[in-house]
Amino acid sequence: MKGRADCPQCRGAGVVVDPDPLKPVAVCPCTREVVAQERAGGIPGRYAAATFESFWEWWKLHHPRQGVVDALDRAKTLLESPLLRDTFPAELASKLDHIVHKCGRLAAEDGQPAWKTLRPAREPQGFQLLQSWTRNDRTAADLWWIDGPPGSGRSSLAAAALKAWCGRTGRPGHFASVRELSQRLKDVYYDVRSYQNVDFISERDLMAPLQAAPCLVLDDWDRMDSDIRVVRALAQLLDHRYSEARPTLLTAAKGAYALQQLESYPPTRLDDTSLLHRLANAQRVELRPVLQRLLDVTGAG
Ligand SMILES: [Zn+2]
Repeated sequence: MKGRADCPQCRGAGVVVDPDPLKPVAVCPCTREVVAQERAGGIPGRYAAATFESFWEWWKLHHPRQGVVDALDRAKTLLESPLLRDTFPAELASKLDHIVHKCGRLAAEDGQPAWKTLRPAREPQGFQLLQSWTRNDRTAADLWWIDGPPGSGRSSLAAAALKAWCGRTGRPGHFASVRELSQRLKDVYYDVRSYQNVDFISERDLMAPLQAAPCLVLDDWDRMDSDIRVVRALAQLLDHRYSEARPTLLTAAKGAYALQQLESYPPTRLDDTSLLHRLANAQRVELRPVLQRLLDVTGAG
């Protein structure tokens, strides 16, 4: 069993020897990370080190404290004003209430309002659920949709989730770029003289490992090629994985429903309403601070 080369406990040996000769040699906790890394194939180098912890540290830098505090103060004002509160749906008000309550306002010091914790307001919608899904079997979900604009961390988060899932289950996973996959499929279909497809790979060769991967990330799902054969192959991949109940995580720049309103979104051309329905009902992780998102809905963002 291999350890992490830079692990301070085992220095890569994978085992920790107790100074007491009567104590058994212990397997170092870092070996689980190494297993996760090896099992989660195809993760591009820039996301290889991603973990939930590193994502959260990065997220906090990108969504600084003051912005979150301002949003909490605005939410509180909104909820306390009967006039304003009546201008938006009760369900929304109760969600805001819940977050404000969890953040826990403390007595003002030097006129500066303070909050016990910012996390419930700051984290992305669905973030906790994704994390607990990778950590236990109790969260039933086999289709995840992680969306946010470029630079919002969606691919890093998908890579972190894949690694965590592989680490817990000990089963292999795969990370695939939909853009690259589209290109490789087109090479298979149209490159009759095999200038690109020099290994004579078939569609089946390309898709079979993706169908079989116990856990799969399809990164940049909305960047698929508009070629109808490519679209059909990707839809079949999702159908297959759905029927086998194998978990799949998709990333995109927008929510599934918003994409389906666009005429240029390739899957709408398949006339496959059950696929569109499934995508729109996937477990969603929206990469914006949840409170900011809710405030925007009230029009008070
Ligand atoms: Zn170690």
